[in-house]
Amino acid sequence: MNDIINNIKNIRKRMSQACEKAGREVDSVRLLLATKTVAAERIRVAIDAGETLLGENRIQEFEVKNRELSGLKYERHFIGHLQLNKVKDIVKYEVGCIQSLESIELMHKLDRRFMEEGRSIDVMVQVNTSFETSKFGLDPENVVAFLKELKKYDTLKLKGFMTIGLFDSDAETVRPSYTRLRELRDRAISEGIISPESRELSMGMSNDLETAIEEGATIVRVGSAIFGTRTPIL
Ligand SMILES: *Cc1c(COP(=O)(O)O)cnc(C)c1O
Repeated sequence: MNDIINNIKNIRKRMSQACEKAGREVDSVRLLLATKTVAAERIRVAIDAGETLLGENRIQEFEVKNRELSGLKYERHFIGHLQLNKVKDIVKYEVGCIQSLESIELMHKLDRRFMEEGRSIDVMVQVNTSFETSKFGLDPENVVAFLKELKKYDTLKLKGFMTIGLFDSDAETVRPSYTRLRELRDRAISEGIISPESRELSMGMSNDLETAIEEGATIVRVGSAIFGTRTPIL
């Protein structure tokens, strides 16, 4: 379990060095622990070490982790592909933000469900910035129309944008994906399509968080560099 604590220290150091290099405040970037497939006892070590933000990809993992991590204080975001038939389940759990809003159907369904619950939910729009067909997320060309539609739904509060960059071990190859997300956000704000408060950029993972921070990430999502390699499910 010491490995987890050391790994977190190492990631925090990488984050602060990247912030320094980019001339940004260290606390302008949050670390989200991507905890898919990670056992609750290992997650507990990270929470005990002071981490407060977790991200899950599958609703099925919420239930067991809710039980096993009960009593601990942390915030959890949903960062995976949300199937339409799982929308009814997501309202059962405390989810701080759904980062993976990426279709009109999902938007409608979430709105209806949260309306019934009488509450709202924070969301981020997931954009496919790498043009890989295997990736989820909106085509950048469709983002403006999507944002205009999203405005009609009071239950869905836009916090910003999320992307999974180009899958490549070379962080420089990934950079254009992150630049694209930042530019999309900046344009949407300057054209008055979204509020300047909807400015979060969730981007950057274990291999390329420095690049993402240089490009303006406000949340980096780190899994394997903290919890070790896992069987890929992405
Ligand atoms: C798994 C995952 C991550 C973390 O990836 P690592 O390379 O393990 O750091 C980030 N974002 C999403 C959406 C993920 O599913």
